[in-house]
Amino acid sequence: MSCRRFLSIPVISVILVMGFVYYITLFVFIDDWVGLHSSHGKLNAFVFSFLAFLCLVSLSICVVIDPGRVPAHDVEDSGWSHSNGTESRKCDKCFAYKPPRTHHCRVCRRCVLKMDHHCLWINNCVGYANYKAFFVLVFYATVACIYSTVLMVCCIFTNGNSYAGNVPLKTFMVSCGVFMIGLSLTLGTLLCWHIYLIAHNMTTIEHYDSKRASWLARKSGQSYRHQYDIGAYKNITSVLGPNMIKWLCPTFTRNPEDGIRFSASRDS
Ligand SMILES: [Zn+2]
Ligand SMILES: [Zn+2]
Repeated sequence: MSCRRFLSIPVISVILVMGFVYYITLFVFIDDWVGLHSSHGKLNAFVFSFLAFLCLVSLSICVVIDPGRVPAHDVEDSGWSHSNGTESRKCDKCFAYKPPRTHHCRVCRRCVLKMDHHCLWINNCVGYANYKAFFVLVFYATVACIYSTVLMVCCIFTNGNSYAGNVPLKTFMVSCGVFMIGLSLTLGTLLCWHIYLIAHNMTTIEHYDSKRASWLARKSGQSYRHQYDIGAYKNITSVLGPNMIKWLCPTFTRNPEDGIRFSASRDS
């Protein structure tokens, strides 16, 4: 766990953007639409504040949690490096064994269990231990952005006439509109991408590796299936946990797998 990762320009930028979106949603969109002290205003402010809180908690978990360190002991004795010869690999930079799905991150300068990618915006790798928090962060951020955009549209429809004669306010609202729609589309695309990856039990790295494997399989007249794709429901529970109620809870629930051994489609 490292709180020092917060001290980076991209992480501070993300927190500032979250603060800006929170401010304009409550004190501009909701206040100008129905008034912040009306019952409708209070309800919308409460729901949006709760979403913002969940985003902040998920972001904090993504930043401070270690994404997955390869255990230094008993690696060769544990059997995985011998039982499955095709997956026994050694990192040529750490000079240590790499469990399956582990990759070396050049930025972190170490191997990360089930590495997805190194994310600049959380100043950390997204790996086995913080992938769920990362997915939940993208989910709540997308919902919050779409919610804020809807509130902005309601605000513009209610006060459209009063904005027409006020050029600075009109410019500000148009800028907010472009920003919120752009952010919603970007986060929505990222969310759809990670839903696709989770449903197929793939990491981003594995997706790009699978493209080549799929092309080679097609060339030799065979069909390709990702090694760890064990069916959509099992794929989802292996990332989000077995309890559906806790799927969107931004905490790390340790899976039955430990980041070193994974069920493969041939085992099921
Ligand atoms: Zn390494
Ligand atoms: Zn990294």
